[in-house]
This record gives sequence, C-alpha cells and structure tokens, in this order.
Amino acid sequence: VTVLAVWALAVAAGCGPLRPPATDATAAKRNVILLVGDGLGATALTMARNYHLGAAGRLEIDRLPVTGSCTTWAVEEDDPTRPDYVTDSSSSATAMATGRKTSNRRVSTEPGTDAPLATILEQARRAGYRTGLVSTAHLADATPAAFAAHVNYRWCFDPAMMAACPTFAKMSGGPGSIVEQMIDVRPDVLLGGGAASFAQRIPAGTHAGHTVLDAAAEAGYRVVTTAAELAVVEAGSPVLGLFAADNFTPAWEGEAASFPPGRPQRCRAAQIPEAQPGLVPMLEAALRLLDAEAGPGFFLMAEAAMIDKQAHAADACGQIGETIELDRAVAVARRFAELHPGTLLIVVGDHDHAPVIVDTRYAVVAPGVTTTLETVEGASMTIGYATSTFTYKQQHSGAPVPVFSLGPDAEALDGLVDHTDIYRVMARRLGVGPAGRAAGDGPP
Ligand code: MG
Ligand code: ZN
Repeated sequence: VTVLAVWALAVAAGCGPLRPPATDATAAKRNVILLVGDGLGATALTMARNYHLGAAGRLEIDRLPVTGSCTTWAVEEDDPTRPDYVTDSSSSATAMATGRKTSNRRVSTEPGTDAPLATILEQARRAGYRTGLVSTAHLADATPAAFAAHVNYRWCFDPAMMAACPTFAKMSGGPGSIVEQMIDVRPDVLLGGGAASFAQRIPAGTHAGHTVLDAAAEAGYRVVTTAAELAVVEAGSPVLGLFAADNFTPAWEGEAASFPPGRPQRCRAAQIPEAQPGLVPMLEAALRLLDAEAGPGFFLMAEAAMIDKQAHAADACGQIGETIELDRAVAVARRFAELHPGTLLIVVGDHDHAPVIVDTRYAVVAPGVTTTLETVEGASMTIGYATSTFTYKQQHSGAPVPVFSLGPDAEALDGLVDHTDIYRVMARRLGVGPAGRAAGDGPP
C-alpha cells in the first residue's frame, strides 16, 4: 500500500494524527482559529444584532453554517466532583484550552493539587504547528493566559503580582508569573495589551534583573507597539505586540445603565489611542504571520475581551461595539478559512453575562440599572443589568452560550456541547493531545 492509501484509510477510520502528504502546501495545512467573545451570550449577540442591523438582521457570526449551544460550568475547588454553575473566564478558558474542568480563578491547573494541565497551544507547538494568541485585553488576562500559562490564581499577571501565588514565583523556584511563563512557552504571535506587566523586572532565575520584555527579546521576539508597526512586521521571528499599558480602549462608548434610567441614547465611537489596532488588524496580522511559513499549520486563539468587561460595568454601548468588532473579525477569519480549506473556525463565548433585554412597560420599577438604546430601525431596546446592587459589579450568568463553526470537524459542535468538547474537536483537527499521541505528544 502507498502512503496515500494508508492516509486515506486512516482518515476514513477517523484517525487524527496522520497527515496527508504535503503535495499542495495550502491544502495539506491544518489550522484552527478559535475566536472567543468574552461574555458573548445569546443576549450580548442579540443586543448587537438589534442595535446594529435590526431584529431581522444577520451578523457574520449568525451566517456560520454550524450552530450549537455550549455549557460553561466550572467545578468546586475543594471537591471537583461538584459543579460550580457559574464559571469565570479562567475556568472556562482552561476547559477550552485543556479539555479539563477546573475551579474559578485557576489558569490551566488542577483543583486542589496545582498540577499543570497541558494546553492545546503547547501540544500544537510540540507537534510543529505555529501558534498565536491575540486579545483586546491585557495578554495575561484569563482567556489568553489559560492557553500558555499554568497558575492557581488568575491575577498573578507579572513579577510584582505574585503575593497571591507565592509557590509559583521565580523567587521560590516556581515557573513565574503569567507573562514570564508566556514568553517561556514562546508562541509565534502574541498581540494585545499589558505593556506595563512586560516592563516588570524578573527577580530570580535565568533572566534575573532583566525585564520580561528583555527576556522576550532574548527569546527572539520582535516587539511592536503601534498599529503602524504591526501592519508591516514580517514573519521569520516570533512577534510580541503590546499596544496598551493594560486593556484596550473599547471601540464604542455611551452612558452606563443607571437607576433612575437616563435618556434614550445612541452609542458613540470612542476616542481610540492611535497606537491601538483593532481586533481586525490584529487578526489579519496574526493570520499573515502564522500562515507565512511551511509546516503542518497553526493554532490561533483571538479574543474580543471587552464584551465582558463592559458588561461588568453595565455599559451596553461598550459591549455592542466590541461585539461588532468581533463580528468583523469573523468575516476576516471566514475568508481565510474559505481560501485555506484545512481550517477549522470556531466562534464561542466563554460564559453568559448579566444583561437582559427587558420589557419595562409593566414594571413599576425595573430592578437593578437600565439603559434604553435607539436602534438602527428606530425602535427602543431597554437593557437591564440586575445581578448586583452596584452598577460596576455586574456578574456572569450560568446559561449556555452559542457556538458557531465552519470547516472540517465543525459538525462535531452541532447541538448541545461543552467547552471541553471544543478542546477535543480542536485537538482532533490538529492530531494532538490524547487523541493524537501518535503525533509525538506526551500524556494528556
Ligand atoms: Mg477574557
Ligand atoms: Zn467577567
């Protein structure tokens, strides 16, 4: 039998790890693009659709061919056999990155033991894939962190923030903070915020006395800090793009929801710092850099992070603007996937969030805080946030989130799935992890 026949049989039998002979570089490449909307629940999506296109409109996200619903629960730290019905972003990102449930505030570590859980990015990298992380938040924020770091407390961003996880600090012989670990894992593309953390000095170990940015340069990273530099940066060495000291400025702004409610409003474009690229230019740059070189393909996670952060602040306009940014990124990712047929594209939220679209006519006093937006079709949409007494402390919800996908293996994300299934589908596509140990990977 020829190599081709063996491969065809393996594919027919559903075996992941074997790859086709590389006769056509594009056709042979296997790519995974995971687009995460932090806090992208069905309500966040409906707010954006109603406001921007009207109730009968369809977003790019809505047009992806496979649609499912994704459960998002975490587990209890003290008894991981028990569910925690409302997840945070670190536990849900851990589920997607590793296929394993963990407790809230953990980043790809096991409840109770602190044992690291292998991530899809690490597994893909070991199998020769190129890898990338993109976020509109601080790069050490929970969602990107869970793909390239292991720590028991999500806020251990940088060497100055290690008081809450002392055993992980370099001073005590640990792997260091999230940004230190991220540089050690060395994804090919890292684009986002958090420059202030990368300016911190590393207190001990190989890079003692140097900043995290120095360590990145020593690891071969080319550092870019403006949208203009990002647009022209060339492949050949890993790229670290830091475009904000902390999180990005959200694209849209408006009045936060309040009690008593303010006047009905239209959202405004925010004043964006010139150096800050949008999610779309970051995604375009990441796809260009990751696809530039020969190899089996790439894994890329790109996150619209501010949907969540603006929902915590009861800021409907901030949420909607970031959701529209994500939708534009979906159009870019879809075009790439259609030109590169080995690409699996997944768009998913990491948890549902506080907002509800409410009918206020019959409530004498709507609970919590509300804001009314005038939509594109000239109608009123009232958004209520009532998961906290404090406007700026709105909370996540435990409802499932929608999941949309396109490309090979996408149909596995039809119906009701869980975040851990997203890991399994991505791992199967790349032939890594427990399903792909023949590809040279270690234990799960
Ligand atoms: Mg996030
Ligand atoms: Zn949140």
